Amino acid sequence: MNNSGLVIIGGGVIGLSSALYCLRRGMAVTVLSRELAADGSCASGSAGMVVPSHVVPLAAPGMVQTAMRMAFNRKGPFSIRPSIDPDLIRWGLKFIRHCSAANVSRAMPLLRDLNLASRNCFVEFANESGNPFGLVQKGLLMLCRTTKGWEHEKDFARVAAQAGLEAQVLSSTEIESMEPDFDMDVEGAVYFPQDCHLNPAVFLQRLESEVRELGGIVHRVPESVEVQCTAEADRVVLVHCGERTFEPDQVLLACGSRTAMQAAKLGIDLLLQPGKGYSLTLMKPVQLPRHCAILTEARVAVTPMGSTLRFAGTMQFEGHREAIDRSRLQGIVESAGRYFPAFKAGHFDFCRPWYGFRPCTPDGLPYLGRSQRYSNLMIATGHAMMGLSLAPITGKIIASLAHDEDPGIDIGLLAPERFSAN
Ligand SMILES: Cc1cc2nc3c(=O)[nH]c(=O)nc-3n(C[C@H](O)[C@H](O)[C@H](O)COP(=O)(O)OP(=O)(O)OC[C@H]3O[C@@H](n4cnc5c(N)ncnc54)[C@H](O)[C@@H]3O)c2cc1C
Repeated sequence: MNNSGLVIIGGGVIGLSSALYCLRRGMAVTVLSRELAADGSCASGSAGMVVPSHVVPLAAPGMVQTAMRMAFNRKGPFSIRPSIDPDLIRWGLKFIRHCSAANVSRAMPLLRDLNLASRNCFVEFANESGNPFGLVQKGLLMLCRTTKGWEHEKDFARVAAQAGLEAQVLSSTEIESMEPDFDMDVEGAVYFPQDCHLNPAVFLQRLESEVRELGGIVHRVPESVEVQCTAEADRVVLVHCGERTFEPDQVLLACGSRTAMQAAKLGIDLLLQPGKGYSLTLMKPVQLPRHCAILTEARVAVTPMGSTLRFAGTMQFEGHREAIDRSRLQGIVESAGRYFPAFKAGHFDFCRPWYGFRPCTPDGLPYLGRSQRYSNLMIATGHAMMGLSLAPITGKIIASLAHDEDPGIDIGLLAPERFSAN
């Protein structure tokens, strides 16, 4: 056993991005992860969107009412499984309290700065690497089928513009000229030109390869093995992984929606719930759009990835339940046909459904920073619907914190133990 530098527990998009930026700054890094890029962690089947436009956190005014309305629709994009799990109840109460204008206005500038900085990192990374993951910088269309939905998006466009983001309101004719080969049945849209999309599975593979090329050590943790930490006073002194033991200078917890379990082993209370989402990828779509889009009323994301087309959606709060809810998938399929008349339900017959668990915090902001309890422990999780988008900037910030430097963005709001009951 010898000094292992930074040990990262969890090698999803956040853990690997953190590894990359720390390695680039000359640190020794070991990543211990249940799943690696090839196994498909949560980001791999995601919609692959890089979204500076997403400046409003999940906990926003009206969200509880909207969620309750949607929860009664078996095919709807949101569901919550009634439970007496005390963590879910605590999380839910805090979430309700944060669905306020005050939460949005304090979160918005921070989300904007993080997302714009992260977007720049993606562009840099694509330029350096020859863009194997297909970063497309053409923007995002927020498509609206109803006048009410369009009015709502127009309001949001004004808010986003006030926050300094580019946002354009488009009529259906203007959308047609941007998507001349793709049929849409929509009333209008809002266009966010700064947003991008990419193939997230290829991005993860590229991250993992670069981490290995830079000398990072990446170990797969078998199902039968639990990573354990030994702490002494205010430091994590050992990390055990089966027969291997590491003596870390620093430790980063980045296990996505499972980070709360790992933190609990160190006596840290992290309020985090898994938000399950699905995706369906058409290998040979009848038509392919040029831009990625969100079907706003249906809350479905649509992303062209090379010659394939991915539809992603739903947010189910039901713990880490692995069962596939066919009616939610049906909801995604039906909404595709409503917005895009060329798409029929039968086109999805042979799609293999994918699902993943987004790590969700009660205020919609990530947990990112040093632990209050252990001086050499950092935590990076809770990015919910923006984990891919925010991964590079998260990695950069972790690299700054690991060097005891100011990360250049005020991350006070992201303190990992802000909801801790201990
Ligand atoms: C349907 C869907 C669509 C999405 N679309 C987008 C999008 O377009 N843009 C965007 O920005 N985000 C999107 N997201 C969200 C994004 O995928 C997540 O925020 C992101 O994957 C979280 O990254 P993570 O590294 O924190 O967690 P994960 O990706 O879950 O990775 C965690 C890693 O930790 C490992 N691990 C877990 N427990 C342990 C343990 N005990 N020991 C060792 N290793 C462990 C896991 O194996 C995994 O490799 C989407 C999510 C879903 C479900």
